[in-house]
Amino acid sequence: MRRHVTYVVVEGQELLGTLKALASAYGPPAWEKDVASRIEEALAPISSERWRDNLGNLFFRIGRGRGPRVMLVAHMDEVAMIVRHVDESGFLHIAPLGGLDPRVLIGQRVVVHGSSPVDGCIGVKPPHVMTPEEMKTVPNVKDLYVDVGASSRAEAEAMGIRVGSYVTFPPNFHLSGNRVISKALDDRAGCAAEVAIARELASSSERPELYAVFTVQEELGLRGASVVVEQVDPDLAVVLECTVAADVPGVPPQDHVTRLGAGAAIRAMDSTMLTNPGLVRWLIGLAESRGIPYQVQVMTGGGTDAGRIHLQRRGIPTVVLATPCRYLHSPNLMLDLRDLEAVVRLGIAVVLDAEGALRAL
Ligand SMILES: [Zn+2]
Repeated sequence: MRRHVTYVVVEGQELLGTLKALASAYGPPAWEKDVASRIEEALAPISSERWRDNLGNLFFRIGRGRGPRVMLVAHMDEVAMIVRHVDESGFLHIAPLGGLDPRVLIGQRVVVHGSSPVDGCIGVKPPHVMTPEEMKTVPNVKDLYVDVGASSRAEAEAMGIRVGSYVTFPPNFHLSGNRVISKALDDRAGCAAEVAIARELASSSERPELYAVFTVQEELGLRGASVVVEQVDPDLAVVLECTVAADVPGVPPQDHVTRLGAGAAIRAMDSTMLTNPGLVRWLIGLAESRGIPYQVQVMTGGGTDAGRIHLQRRGIPTVVLATPCRYLHSPNLMLDLRDLEAVVRLGIAVVLDAEGALRAL
């Protein structure tokens, strides 16, 4: 049996409680209001100004500060599905919202957001009636369907389910030793880190001007992030994300990308941004001088809101700090709380030394 630890980190911030509250909220793309209202509860008391834009992006100016303007960014949405057809027998045919792997969807419990949440499951033809050929093929998400127990279209419609209704994974937060298993850790881990950093720095008098921004529709191609620079005009952007940890059986070390428990991931490259090498060196020096565990990450695929943000205006100096996470875009992601804590500590150090970051460019 591994020991269960109560996490009270970063000068009394209850990071685990925040993570649980945020990961258990529903946030399919373009309908992130449940997540947004939980973040507002946490940050409204320490913000001097806050607003939501027309896409649903959420902004907080954290108290007063001076010097460069730093913008923290995490995305509120999670991968989900949407009903594209309700058939005569009451089955719901679905389309993916974000990159979903059909192999991890089959047989899962889901929640369909009708007039109220309705439990359902993603159905699959039983192996007993499959042909040997069917046993070998992976279906497309569009070939899968959700069964809510309705026996006709009228019965499904009576539950408030329509074409366009959202389908999400149910809340399932579980703590095992230092590790959390839950849906939506991508990117509620980043949201929880951002809340912790903002709360920690709210009362600091020696810090730069700080904005905490929470974006929408990242999973559909960084859409919300496209319009945030215009509204904040930052000198430095810090994107807080979840990232691939492929340190699992069958994957050779050169393809692990990051490892669970090995510290905060400093992004050197992904398919949407090549981080300024001076900033990467500066981040490494900062982590080492503060004794914060870190790992440097290079990925040829994937991307974050940073991909949009750094290309705005005359170019925005942008860094990505990420919590390594196994099983991204599945109903059961896993992270190590010590990595999340490292992201929070490194994020605080970055904000406090924003001038150092700008000198490192
Ligand atoms: Zn993400």
